[in-house]
Amino acid sequence: MIEAKGVTKSYGLGESKTDVLKGIDLRISDGDFAVILGASGSGKSTLLNCLSGLERVDGGSIEYDGLNIAELSDKALTKFRKENIGFIFQQYYLLPDMTVDKNVRMGADLAGNADYREIIKAVGLEAKAAKYPSELSGGEQQRVSVARALAKKPKVLFLDEPTLGLDVRARRDLWRHITAHRQEMTIILTTHYLEEAESLSDRIGVMNGGRLVALGSADDIVRQTGAASFEDAFLALTDEEVTA
Ligand code: ADP
Ligand code: MG
Repeated sequence: MIEAKGVTKSYGLGESKTDVLKGIDLRISDGDFAVILGASGSGKSTLLNCLSGLERVDGGSIEYDGLNIAELSDKALTKFRKENIGFIFQQYYLLPDMTVDKNVRMGADLAGNADYREIIKAVGLEAKAAKYPSELSGGEQQRVSVARALAKKPKVLFLDEPTLGLDVRARRDLWRHITAHRQEMTIILTTHYLEEAESLSDRIGVMNGGRLVALGSADDIVRQTGAASFEDAFLALTDEEVTA
């Protein structure tokens, strides 16, 4: 179980200080597929970065089965992340000087997994294993980053807008690969696509201006807001894009 309590995070100093997370309370059970929705600038990426230990919180706690990662030393946090956390970013962050095979093997090495080649095959990149990221399409590069994250066999997989800019087929492929492993991990995802949230998730959190303004199933959220549809509920809960 992941439990966030009173999580706060600000960027900048003095007059330019921005409170990006304004006290987030959140519980995610093992094996859950949770989706965080919200307008651009509402703090989704910052929340994922903090929950995954990529960034430090300013206040509050983030507990994994009772272990507060906010209190870990840098070294202990790095170890924790290596052993437990996978992260798929919107930008693929592949290593440009390494082939597909090596990029994926890196993920596997972290967890000591031997079957990373099976994962390359599963995402349909067997024929491109010896190619470099610059020789691949955007969708293929995203599949490499998915394979790398899955090869690590993480307990918790974070995905920050992984489907932004992918075409319909690439999006469907991505979800096929991720959901094939759904039973093996906890998944926490941000997306702009409401239908992805509705169809994939057990629980949806809606962020607005650094706060979690709703949490529950799509049906719960529709009921809470008294809206006619999930899209109407989302629009009622969120402001326009924040252009801070
Ligand atoms: P989202 O993912 O929902 O679009 P983010 O978490 O990326 O939102 O950003 C929330 C707010 O925090 C935005 O106003 C953004 O400009 C600001 N922000 C995010 N990261 C940084 C940073 N490293 N330094 C300063 N401001 C940041
Ligand atoms: Mg973001």
